[in-house]
Amino acid sequence: MFKADLCDLCGDCLVKCPWIKVDKPQAVEWMKAMMAGQQTSVLRRCITCFACNEICPTKANPFDLIARLQEQYDVFNSKEIAKLEEANYAFTKTLTKYPSSERIMTACLFQKTHPHLMQGQLYDLPRVSGKPYFCWLLFGHWGVESIQKKHAREMVDRLALTGAKEVICFHDDCYAMLATLAPGYGIEVPFRPVHLSEYLLSRLQQHRDRIKPLNISVAYQRPCASRLTPVKEHFVDELFELAGVTRVRRTYDRDGALCCANIKLLLGDGDPRPDQEKNILDAKQSGAQAMVCLCPMCLDGLAAVASVHGLPLIFLGDIARMALGEIAVPALGGAERA
Ligand code: SF4
Ligand code: SF4
Repeated sequence: MFKADLCDLCGDCLVKCPWIKVDKPQAVEWMKAMMAGQQTSVLRRCITCFACNEICPTKANPFDLIARLQEQYDVFNSKEIAKLEEANYAFTKTLTKYPSSERIMTACLFQKTHPHLMQGQLYDLPRVSGKPYFCWLLFGHWGVESIQKKHAREMVDRLALTGAKEVICFHDDCYAMLATLAPGYGIEVPFRPVHLSEYLLSRLQQHRDRIKPLNISVAYQRPCASRLTPVKEHFVDELFELAGVTRVRRTYDRDGALCCANIKLLLGDGDPRPDQEKNILDAKQSGAQAMVCLCPMCLDGLAAVASVHGLPLIFLGDIARMALGEIAVPALGGAERA
């Protein structure tokens, strides 16, 4: 929720937005207008990357204001489609079968679309997936945040049916929902959401004696949803360190991260490839031999441009599997230095 009382109208959220180029006086004017409930060009130019919520120094959650107005003013043409899509994604039956375990993994919709990313002994725990456990963040991207909010409780309640004390989130979006958004909606989450990076790190620590350091330099592709849960970032760093992976310093990482830009296609907002190319070239020029993605959507969205530039993409989970010798390291790209 946007916290107007915390906003001191510094304008940083829009001045530092990776997608909207604006100076401070204009940013302040737009913020004032939006706080008064008015429409501004920010609403259409925003690609819903969540970055401003992390950028805001006072934690006022400016994206939540933007999202509310995007919905109020029907900003995205896809809004009607999104409402129809709600019916496609909703699980309307009664859930009768689910595992009962102290620790489970939720794979969201990726069990069906990306089963190859959750193979091997690291994923040998009870798992739930599919529509009943969909996290609905897609609809926040679509400019219909109310649909995301409407379904948040049912996701939490269905996961709670398993009796799990810990729910490992395969997808960063699910973790954002359980760790940040649902509590923000006033929903009590009766288990501990565990980010995939924390889980993989703990498994590597258990098998420390088996780790063969990979000795590779990679760029990390920090996904949009990580903007909502920055406190877990240290798990990614610790995982890389344990696996013998160097995360190169580059322009588009950490709080300067550029999302995969694929959301532009969903929003009818133009060709994402020039932005993706900026990101990939930044990685290569920073000495990366590969780019590690946490989100399967980043893997898919960046694949074509990364391939053109000879930069292999690796799923974060596969880094842990490689370090344990479960799978081979792919052919790496030749690093470039600026
Ligand atoms: S969500 Fe992203 S694109 Fe939208 S205003 Fe915030 S930083 Fe800019
Ligand atoms: S929402 Fe945050 S970053 Fe934006 S103007 Fe207000 S205080 Fe500054």
